[in-house]
Amino acid sequence: MNRYETIRRIKGIGEKKETLYHRLGIFNINDLLYYYPWDYESREVIDSLDEVIPGDKWVVKGTLMDSGIVKRIRGNLSITRFSCKGEAGVFDVAWFNIPYLKNTLRKNSTYYFYGKIQKKFGRYVLENPEFKHEKEGQNNREILPKYSLTKGLTQKDLRKAVADVLDQKLEVEEYLEDSLLREHDLLGKGDAIYKIHRPKSKDEVIGARRRLVIDELVEIQAGFKYFKSLNKTKIRLNVDREDEGKIEALKSSLPFVLTKGQQEVVGTILDDLKKRKRMNRLIQGDVGSGKTVVAALAQYIFFLKGYQSVIMAPTEILARQHEKTIKAFLEPFGIKVALVVGGMKKNDRKAVLEGLKDGTCHLAIGTHAIIQSDTEFFNLGLVITDEQHRFGVEQRSKLMKKGSSPHVLVMSATPIPRTISHALYGDLDVSTINTMPKGRKAIRTHCIKKSRLKKVYGFILEEIQKKRQAFIVCPEIEQGENENVSASELYKDLIDSVFSETKVALVHGKMRADKKEETMGKFSRGEIDVLVSTTVVEVGIDVPNATVMLIMDADRFGLATLHQLRGRVGRGSYESWCILATDTSNEKSLERLRVLETSNDGFEIAQRDFELRGPGDYFGFKQHGLPEFKLTDLSRDEKEIETAKKILDTLVDNNKTETIEKIIQSFKKKIDNID
Ligand code: ADP
Ligand code: MG
Repeated sequence: MNRYETIRRIKGIGEKKETLYHRLGIFNINDLLYYYPWDYESREVIDSLDEVIPGDKWVVKGTLMDSGIVKRIRGNLSITRFSCKGEAGVFDVAWFNIPYLKNTLRKNSTYYFYGKIQKKFGRYVLENPEFKHEKEGQNNREILPKYSLTKGLTQKDLRKAVADVLDQKLEVEEYLEDSLLREHDLLGKGDAIYKIHRPKSKDEVIGARRRLVIDELVEIQAGFKYFKSLNKTKIRLNVDREDEGKIEALKSSLPFVLTKGQQEVVGTILDDLKKRKRMNRLIQGDVGSGKTVVAALAQYIFFLKGYQSVIMAPTEILARQHEKTIKAFLEPFGIKVALVVGGMKKNDRKAVLEGLKDGTCHLAIGTHAIIQSDTEFFNLGLVITDEQHRFGVEQRSKLMKKGSSPHVLVMSATPIPRTISHALYGDLDVSTINTMPKGRKAIRTHCIKKSRLKKVYGFILEEIQKKRQAFIVCPEIEQGENENVSASELYKDLIDSVFSETKVALVHGKMRADKKEETMGKFSRGEIDVLVSTTVVEVGIDVPNATVMLIMDADRFGLATLHQLRGRVGRGSYESWCILATDTSNEKSLERLRVLETSNDGFEIAQRDFELRGPGDYFGFKQHGLPEFKLTDLSRDEKEIETAKKILDTLVDNNKTETIEKIIQSFKKKIDNID
C-alpha cells in the first residue's frame, strides 16, 4: 500500500462504499490518514456489574457458558442469546436479527462486550453489544475515535479503514529536524497522526493535536510569506480635495448617517491610498455593523480615479443582495454595476464580460464565477472579498492576479483577536468597525431543554401568523450515530406534524448549489415561512423579516458560529428571538451558552469563549469555518501560533529554502483542493 493509492485497496471498500467515502472527501489512503476524528469515546472495563446504573455503557469481560440459542420472536424477527460469566458477574448478551452469530461466537471462549447494560427480570443483559475476542486485547480504558459520517458509512467502517491504514505503518514525511521537535516539545509527524487516531490517553490526544495544529499554522504562515511577494502595485491613487468633496456628496445621499466606526474605517482606507502603497486591509465588524456601505464607498473612490473594482461574495444569494444594495448607493452617481454569477445565460454573461474588458462596466459583483479564467478587466484596481472565512487564500490570490496587483479589502464578521490576526494574516492590516447603527433591537436569547420544543414551535406558528419567518438550524444533515438532531429528519418530522400547514423548506451543504440558492432565494422573498438547515445559512444572508432563530443541539456549535447564526435575525425593526435548544448536562457547555443569553457583542463573546474553554482543555474538537484549517481554532491556539512563527523563523534563519518550498507547496496543494 502506498499513500496515494485509492482507498479501494482497503479490505471491505468496494465500489459502493468508495462513493460514500468520496462524499467525505476521502479518495486515497493519504486522505484517510488526514481524516481526523472530531471526538472520542471512552470505553472502560467494569469491575463489578453491581456498580452499574442500568442504561450506562461499559465494557464487560465474560466467558460464554453455552453455545447460544436463536429464538424466533415473530415474523422475521429473531434473537440470539448467550449467557456469560466473568469477574464482573453473570450476564447475558443478546442480538436481534443476527442469527449467524451463533456460529461465530464459541462456548468457553472469552470476549469483551461493549454496550448498554440493562437489567431485565433480575438479570444483566447487553443488547446488541460490540464484541471482540480476548486475544485481540483490551486496555482497561480504551479511547476510540469518532469520525464524521455520511449515510451508509458507520463509525465501525471508518475505524476499521483507518486502523487498516495505520497498521501498514506507512512513512509520513517529517520536515522538522529532531532538534526543532525537541526544542518545542513536539511529537514527530507520523507519531502525531498515529496518536490522533489511536490515542491511549487524553494527553496523547492533546499532544497529537498540538503537533498537527502547528503544522497547519506553519503552512499558512509560510503561505502568507509567499503571497507577500505579490505585494507590489503600480496602481497609485491621488485622492484630492475635489474627490473628497464628491465622497462627501455620496455620503450625504445615503439613507442614513454613517456611524462613527464606519467613518473611521473609511478614513483609514483613504489614508492607505494616500500612502501610495498597496492597501491590504481586513475590516472586521460584527454582524450588522454595516460593512457593505464601507465597501461601496471604497469602490466609489476607485471609480473616481478611473479604476474598476470587484466585490466577491461566498454565495449567489449574497452576491445578489450586494448587487441590490450597491446599485442603490452608486448608480445615481453614474456607476455601471454588473453581476457575475454561475448560472447566467450565455448572452448575458458575454455582455457583462465585454463590459468589464472594455471598461464600460465599472464595478463587478459576484461569486467564484468572477475568478474563472475567461474574465478579463480593463483596469482592475480594487478587490473586495466579503466574509473572508469562506474563501481560500488561493482563490483570493487568483482574483488579485486579474489586475496588476490591485488593492485589497477583506471584510469579515468573524471576530479574530488582534494578536491572532497579526500573526496569521501577517500581511493584512486590520481595522474594526466597533459601533452599531442606532435603533437596532437587541435579540432575546434563551437556552431551553428539548422537551420544551413544542412550545417553541407554537411560538414560531404565532410569529408566522404575524407574517414573520423563522430559521431552524441543526448540527447535522443526516442522522448519524449520535443523537444529534439532523436537518433531514427534523424537516420530515415537522412537515408531518406541527408545520403541516406551514411552508417549510430544507437546505444543507450537500444539496446541489442551484437548488440551495433557489430555496434560500425563496426564503428571502418570503415565499417560505420556516427554513430548516445546517450552518449553510451562517454567512450574511439578510432577511429582515425573519424573527426567530432556533438552534438544535446548540452545544455542538462554537460560540462564534452561534453568534453568527443569531445575527441572521434582528435585522429589521421587529423584535427577534434566538432559542438555543440543548439537553447537555455538561456545566461548562451550559455556561458557554449562557454567555449568549447575556451578551450581543461578538468581540466580547469571542473573548469569553476563549476564557471559558481555556487553552489545552480539549477533548473533542470541531471543524471550524476556516477552510485552511482542520484542527486549528484561532481563538484557542494563540500559543501554537507563536510556536509556529518561531519554527518558521528558525527555518528561514537557517536557510532551509528547500523545506520552506515544500511547506508552501503542500499549503498550495491543500488550498487548491478546497472549493
Ligand atoms: P454587515 O456588516 O453584517 O455586512 P450590512 O452592511 O449588511 O451589515 O448592514 C446591515 C444593515 O444595516 C443594512 O440594512 C444597512 O442598510 C444598514 N446600515 C448600515 N449602516 C447603517 C447606518 N450607519 N445607520 C443605519 N443603518 C445602517
Ligand atoms: Mg455583510
